[in-house]
Amino acid sequence: MSKRLPAIFFGHGNPLNALMQNGYTEAWERFGSAAPRPRAILAISAHWFVEGTGVTISTAPRTIHDFGGFPPELYRVQYPAPGDPALARRVQEMLAPMPVGLDDSWGLDHGAWSVLCHVYPAADVPVVQLSMDARLPAAAHFEIGRRLAPLREEGVLIVGSGNLVHNLRAYAWGQENAAPYDWAVQFETEARQMMLAGELKPLLEYGALGREAMLSIPTPEHYLPLLYVLATQQQGEKITFPVEGIEGGSISMLAAQVG
Ligand code: ZN
Repeated sequence: MSKRLPAIFFGHGNPLNALMQNGYTEAWERFGSAAPRPRAILAISAHWFVEGTGVTISTAPRTIHDFGGFPPELYRVQYPAPGDPALARRVQEMLAPMPVGLDDSWGLDHGAWSVLCHVYPAADVPVVQLSMDARLPAAAHFEIGRRLAPLREEGVLIVGSGNLVHNLRAYAWGQENAAPYDWAVQFETEARQMMLAGELKPLLEYGALGREAMLSIPTPEHYLPLLYVLATQQQGEKITFPVEGIEGGSISMLAAQVG
């Protein structure tokens, strides 16, 4: 039996999922109960996409309400998971000589907490967030994930949070059950096939995958966290999709689990 933890990419979708009970949140909860309990979480969220790679160093990361126009109760949500400065330093050491900042300004953004509040509702697993350097190409993000993969053997759950398909311009606001766009279904299907076949290279060069990919990934920040997770795949490990669905026509809620 392997002591290696899985790694998982969650499609987070609407921040309101934090307050909801639906098929997605129930599946997130199921993952949390079924997976071996991690000693800590390293989270890579679409919403910390900046110039430079950094890790949160605080022992008590704040809950960031990084959105506008939502009901007041969403701004009252707190996810008081502790930080883990030792894990932050371990990440810094693993990625050296690439500079990794120890950041005490960020905390947990909604990409992390809107999902984790269902996965680990007691907020008792320490969380460190890793920022994505917006200047890097997709292959460099994948390489960072590859170098962090050994954390899975050290009791750390690597969590990516974004959306495989994320097009807010096309999103049918207020109609979560709107029929998915053909291009969204096509790109999701194609990406799933590649993941299952272990053909990850085209996913790193998604700009060459045509119109469906361009519409599904109009900006990279919701897509890239997936690459960090896929990069941790070890020989013989399967990829499964414990959560599925397309919301509002243009947001894929697909979760991809490695191991
Ligand atoms: Zn988001």
